[in-house]
Amino acid sequence: MTAPLIPVKTIPGRAKKGVSLRKGVQFLFLTITLFLGIKFYLFVAQLGSGAMPTLERPPGVEAFLPISALVSLKYFLFTGIFNRVHPSALVLFLIICATALVVKKGFCSWICPLGLVSDFLAKLNGYFFKRRWDVPPWADFFLRTLKYSVAGFFVWSIFFKMPVAAIEQFIQSPYNTFADIKMLEFFTKISITSFWVITALLVLSVLIKHFWCRYLCPYGSILGVLGFLSMGKIQRNNENCIKCGNCESVCPGKISLMDKGRVHSLECSACLGCVDVCPSKNAIGFSLFSGRMILNQKKIALVLIVFFMGGITIAKGTGHWQNNTSVQAYRQHVLFGRMPERIPAKMDPEKMRRMIEKMRRQMPPPQ
Ligand code: SF4
Ligand code: SF4
Repeated sequence: MTAPLIPVKTIPGRAKKGVSLRKGVQFLFLTITLFLGIKFYLFVAQLGSGAMPTLERPPGVEAFLPISALVSLKYFLFTGIFNRVHPSALVLFLIICATALVVKKGFCSWICPLGLVSDFLAKLNGYFFKRRWDVPPWADFFLRTLKYSVAGFFVWSIFFKMPVAAIEQFIQSPYNTFADIKMLEFFTKISITSFWVITALLVLSVLIKHFWCRYLCPYGSILGVLGFLSMGKIQRNNENCIKCGNCESVCPGKISLMDKGRVHSLECSACLGCVDVCPSKNAIGFSLFSGRMILNQKKIALVLIVFFMGGITIAKGTGHWQNNTSVQAYRQHVLFGRMPERIPAKMDPEKMRRMIEKMRRQMPPPQ
């Protein structure tokens, strides 16, 4: 018989003090992301100087092109062609989706740099306010539908509204081809509107824990839906549970754990926070195949790293990692914006250098 659920005051769990393995993995991927971002920035800066770049464009930056990945996925499903405009965007998207079939939204809490920033901003709240203000349940439910609506809109528009011919046109368009540079310019040449939108999101993330991840991130919502099919899930064992309520109190997904056995919620990000704070042995854990295999922090970290390293290695080995846009085309785009067709594909380098110098002289001095 199921014992009545009574809220009991939080009692110490078995969590070890210090930096958790999850934080270590998050920092590792944040470092990789920063390294790729800086390398790409320097690559574009070298292009902007008019010289041939000595750095290579890091394909990993395409992780930030989810729309290109979705479009490429439809193109691949309908034509069998794995287009080479942004192949690593699709490779990374497929890897991330594959992880969701094993560790649910584990990508969000273990790898995504925005998840780490979100955790940090949530901690700031404690420095500014004595009591955390929380969204009432009805508003929480309504707000959570936003991210599913945004993701649903993109999936509907791309998979159901765009014909394959339009998809092909989009893939080959300058907009998509140079989407990585546009994404960089979003940060390096930030508009007033974007600045205020980002500032508002940062403030809201301090006030409301995990505001972006919980209510707006479309990537997270796609993983949440895929994670419903995951073979790994949190499992609570009623016999060993002492109903202390620790697990529920720390869950970033605000999942009602104490009235569940196996947790099917779309919001679970396999962070193992509930497992870490549980004072009772074998009362809760993340398990595969309905409890037959337990995944602790080390195993989840291993699963994610194997998926990423394995997937990228296969993509590199089979020629699905590097894009086919030439450095020359990138240089023309950076130097001449939307008019690459005005520059002959094989212009004499000396002539090009003189042309760049002339354009520079015509540009107004910096303010
Ligand atoms: S605390 Fe537990 S149930 Fe909540 S998101 Fe993390 S792993 Fe899932
Ligand atoms: S599963 Fe663990 S943390 Fe959650 S209520 Fe039971 S004993 Fe407490």
